[in-house]
Amino acid sequence: MRVPPDRVTPEDERPLREVDCRRCGTTVLVRKNTLTQTSIQWLADAGTVCTELAEQRAAGVHTGRVARCESLRASIDEAVADGRLEVLDR
Ligand SMILES: [Zn+2]
Repeated sequence: MRVPPDRVTPEDERPLREVDCRRCGTTVLVRKNTLTQTSIQWLADAGTVCTELAEQRAAGVHTGRVARCESLRASIDEAVADGRLEVLDR
């Protein structure tokens, strides 16, 4: 079975960190595997809780399960930059 890169694989026990989206305040669980690979686990339905995704959905953009909220991405990058989120495999 192929696992999409942004999904958490069940056998991976490494810790997830809570990160809040600075725009919509949604809390997600994030694990930064490498600088380019990020695992995001939504705690609620992304298209409902995230205003940015809700806007995209309302505009007819298919967001799917692997959501792209730019504010959330920026919040994750910020957490990495100030050391709240460690990158596991540098
Ligand atoms: Zn958001």
